Amino acid sequence: MHLARFPRHRLFPAPTPLEKLGNLSRHLGGPEIWIKRDDCTVVASGGNKVRKLEFLAGEALAQGADTLVTQGAVQSNHVRQTVAVAARLGMRCVVLLEHRVETNDPMYLTSGNVLLDRLMGAEIEYRPGGIDMNAAAEAKGAELRAAGSRPYVIPGGGSNRVGALGYVACAQELMAQVDEMGLKIDRVVHATGSAGTQAGLVVGLEGCNAGVPVLGIGVRLPRPQQEANVHRLANEVAEYVGMRGGIAREAVVANCDYVGPGYGQPTEGMREAVSLLARLEGILLDPVYSGKGMAGLIDLIRTGKIDAGERVVFLHTGGSVGLFGYQGFFEQGFAA
Ligand SMILES: *Cc1c(COP(=O)(O)O)cnc(C)c1O
Repeated sequence: MHLARFPRHRLFPAPTPLEKLGNLSRHLGGPEIWIKRDDCTVVASGGNKVRKLEFLAGEALAQGADTLVTQGAVQSNHVRQTVAVAARLGMRCVVLLEHRVETNDPMYLTSGNVLLDRLMGAEIEYRPGGIDMNAAAEAKGAELRAAGSRPYVIPGGGSNRVGALGYVACAQELMAQVDEMGLKIDRVVHATGSAGTQAGLVVGLEGCNAGVPVLGIGVRLPRPQQEANVHRLANEVAEYVGMRGGIAREAVVANCDYVGPGYGQPTEGMREAVSLLARLEGILLDPVYSGKGMAGLIDLIRTGKIDAGERVVFLHTGGSVGLFGYQGFFEQGFAA
């Protein structure tokens, strides 16, 4: 695969750090856990969407766009990172925020990511929960085009074949990093939502024959739908990068047992995972994605489903800004 064939606008200095979580590994008495710090991608407190936005912004610039349009939940990390990139590129940014999480909590509705969206000058419109948000973003793009703008519409989570190239690049970066360090790794684990991260990682790792399986921990959909979404996108990405033979269905594995009551709804496992990483390692996870992803990893270790002899890389996809949208939930925990 030859990623320099695709337009790319560099946004952060690669590689992101790869750190050993010695305290957490000792605490769990299980495998050796490492963390790939994609929360350290610089732009407005970072996160995994910045990698996708390198390729999405590259294409937007190549097309002469003057406006980025995207969508997400009210506490969307993807929206916050897109707003930041638009600001940095001197573009207008129009975003649709979906009331996907049913809540009247003023912290959820005004703090965290959405506060930063406003600070960075996003033009925000709200939509009710449950509608087709990608269609709504396309409609908004058409409206802006009709009014004389040159919009570039980015799907939810930046998850299309262009955005997923960011995680093909991440897979290549990770393998170069561990080979340089002489570190043999057995597995990569991360939170999976709109599918672009996992699709890109799977294509990137398969493409360099790494023999390292990826486990996505779902945060929204049941397993069959999540795996189907990732597999469909992975095949599109494989074709886009010119990889022959496509992606085997078995290469896509998602465990969706840690979603809890639904997307963005807190779980006790998430609370424990966020607290453990904070107290043992000084690392901030997030309540919607990486907290549930780590809750899954911890449970799979405790139940012996991930072998104590392994070396596991947890991909930290960012999102700690979202903690401020969940202040009430964490304060209840301190009081208890
Ligand atoms: C978007 C996001 C994810 C999930 O990545 P997808 O590519 O949407 O599957 C994981 N963690 C965080 C913090 C995110 O913002």
